[in-house]
Amino acid sequence: MTEDRSSNYDIIIVGGGPAGLSAAVYAARSRRRTLLIERGVTGGQIALTNEVENYPGIESINGFELAQTMQRQAEKYGLEIAAADLQRIEQIDDRHAVRTGQGDYTAKAVILTAGADYNRLGVPGEERLTGHGVSYCATCDAAFFKDQTVGVVGGGDAAMDEGLFVTRYASKVYMIHRRDSLRASAVLQERAFANPKMHFVWNTVIDDIVGDAAVTGLHSRNVVTGEVATLDVAAVFVFIGLTPNTGYLRGKVKMDEGGHIFVNEWMETEIPGLFAAGDVRANSARQVVTAAGDGATAAIRADHYISERFGGTPGIGEWEPNPDPIGKDSLKLN
Ligand SMILES: Cc1cc2nc3c(=O)[nH]c(=O)nc-3n(C[C@H](O)[C@H](O)[C@H](O)COP(=O)(O)OP(=O)(O)OC[C@H]3O[C@@H](n4cnc5c(N)ncnc54)[C@H](O)[C@@H]3O)c2cc1C
Repeated sequence: MTEDRSSNYDIIIVGGGPAGLSAAVYAARSRRRTLLIERGVTGGQIALTNEVENYPGIESINGFELAQTMQRQAEKYGLEIAAADLQRIEQIDDRHAVRTGQGDYTAKAVILTAGADYNRLGVPGEERLTGHGVSYCATCDAAFFKDQTVGVVGGGDAAMDEGLFVTRYASKVYMIHRRDSLRASAVLQERAFANPKMHFVWNTVIDDIVGDAAVTGLHSRNVVTGEVATLDVAAVFVFIGLTPNTGYLRGKVKMDEGGHIFVNEWMETEIPGLFAAGDVRANSARQVVTAAGDGATAAIRADHYISERFGGTPGIGEWEPNPDPIGKDSLKLN
């Protein structure tokens, strides 16, 4: 571990999606020496989407552009950014050691905003057409396919819930599932089966997604009969699970079955000075605006935590945190 000042920060934020960038704006603006670590392109999932139409105050914006604006805003207040891939976090006395493949850092507080990766189908055309008809978010993209035929892939709650949302816009929705029955809860199944726009395509997988500039169809295959078919669709919504980027913390903090981190209302984990915000946390609404809100909350609390633990005045306003937050004890590992 290098001990020079250059690698010692007040706050380190891991992940440059909306949660991380929002945390960065607040942390840097509170005059905390702040580093944001990002392994890829800043913007996270939102960098993938063409248009965001549900961020309050902005009627429509390209996702990458929104992320760039957030980044510029934070850099204006002194945010530093490192291109690095987090591998481990350890507690050393009252600080956190942040180990990356590209170097080590320490911080008084760490805010984890590493998000979650949507499970991909892994078929030809998927990556190329993401944002051009391939989507992992119906709330975000269904409105672009009004009166068109689309496909939804998956058999769980997310696929039914999001599929039902898609029917508000699309004229016809193929519900494509690799098995002959659904995993979704009974109430969602009932609603889905009762919806005249939904057409179930059972025992079927997708072999590839076709289209030049945008999706025009799917090549599907029945896994029982081997029969192949082409479905003409303008979009395919994929809901085959999410994997949060939390492997490096397994066993160290409380998580749900899927690996999302439990936090209290201040985005605190049970480890002092370690916060989790955005899609990486349990029970997130998984939207840009909620991730940004989480990031802001975490940074405000981190600023106060540093003052309480290390002295000095918080850089952010008059806000006083409740010293006894609901649910803090429930975050302790058994
Ligand atoms: C195609 C698509 C379209 C969407 N459209 C909308 C929309 O229109 N409106 C809306 O509200 N929501 C939309 N969403 C959902 C929204 O993008 C997410 O809810 C939001 O991005 C979550 O933000 P986050 O910061 O928590 O995580 P993420 O956006 O997932 O960002 C996490 C970041 O952490 C980085 N990271 C991960 N692991 C590491 C590591 N080990 N080291 C360093 N960095 C790491 C990742 O590279 C990534 O940049 C969409 C999602 C997708 C996939």
